Amino acid sequence: MKNMMKHPSITLMLVLMLSLVLSGCNSTGTNTPSASGGGDAEAQGTVERIKERGKLIAGVKYDTKLFGLKDPASGDVEGFDIDIAKALAKQILGDETKVELKEVTSKTRIPMLQNGDIDIIIATMTITDERKEQVDFSDVYFEAGQSLLVKNDSAIAGLESLDGVKVLAVKGSTSAQNIREKAPKADVLEFDNYQDAFTALKAGKGEALTTDNIILIGMQQTDNNYKLVGGNFTSEPYGMAIRKGDTAFVEEVNKMLKALKDSGEYDTLHEKWLGSKPE
Ligand code: GLU
Repeated sequence: MKNMMKHPSITLMLVLMLSLVLSGCNSTGTNTPSASGGGDAEAQGTVERIKERGKLIAGVKYDTKLFGLKDPASGDVEGFDIDIAKALAKQILGDETKVELKEVTSKTRIPMLQNGDIDIIIATMTITDERKEQVDFSDVYFEAGQSLLVKNDSAIAGLESLDGVKVLAVKGSTSAQNIREKAPKADVLEFDNYQDAFTALKAGKGEALTTDNIILIGMQQTDNNYKLVGGNFTSEPYGMAIRKGDTAFVEEVNKMLKALKDSGEYDTLHEKWLGSKPE
C-alpha cells in the first residue's frame, strides 16, 4: 500500500483496470433484469419470443384439482388455469393448442419464471406486495380465501382451535406464511405439493390442512370424509405472474382477460370448473 502511494501511476492503472472489469460486467448485463440477480432470462420481449417459438410455455400446477391437475392415466392436465393458458395461446398465436404446460409448485414457480423455463405462471398464485418485488402480475382473475380442511368428525372449528395442533401446508405458499401469523401456536408442517399434503392429512400426520378454499374444495370433492371449517380468514386474489419489467406482456395478458370477460367466456369457464357463474 505504502509502495503504491509512492507510485501514483500504479494506482491509476489499478483504477483503470477495475473500471474496465466493471464496465465489462455491465455491458453483458444491460438486457437482464438487474433487480433479481444473475442467471435470469431477459425480462422484456416475451410476446415476441412466444411468436418466434410458435408456442406459449405456461407454468401450471399438476396437483390441484379444479385449477391444474394431471390425470395420471391420460397424462392430460386440466383445470381453470389450464383453460386460461389456452385462451392466452389463442390470443397470441391464434391457436389454443399452441401451449406447452410445465409443472410448477408453489416453491419453484418464481425461480422457474426468472430463469426462463416458463413464460408465465398461471398457478393459483396470490398477488402479494412481497411477490411484486420479484415479478409483475396481471389483473386479478380469481378471488380465493384461505381456510382449513379437517376430518368430518374433527373438533377443530377454526383458527381458535389450532393451539398445539399439527397443521399441514405447502412450501412457498402464502398459506404457510399466513397460518404462522394467524395461529402462532400451531405446529406447521410443510410439504412440496398439495397432493403430498393431502396424503399426509389422510395418513393422520396432521389434524388440519390449510390453503385456499377453492383448493380445499377440490380435495373434498375427491374424499367427502373432509370438511372446510373456519371460513375464509385471508383474501387471496389470483394473478398471472410475468417477468418483472415486461409491461408489454402484462398488457397482452390483461387484454386477453378483458376479452374473456367481455365475451362471456370467463363465466363459462368459471361454471365449468367451479360449478357456478361468478357472483
Ligand atoms: N394462493 C396461495 C399462494 O399463492 C396458495 C396456493 C398455492 O400455493 O399456489 O401461495
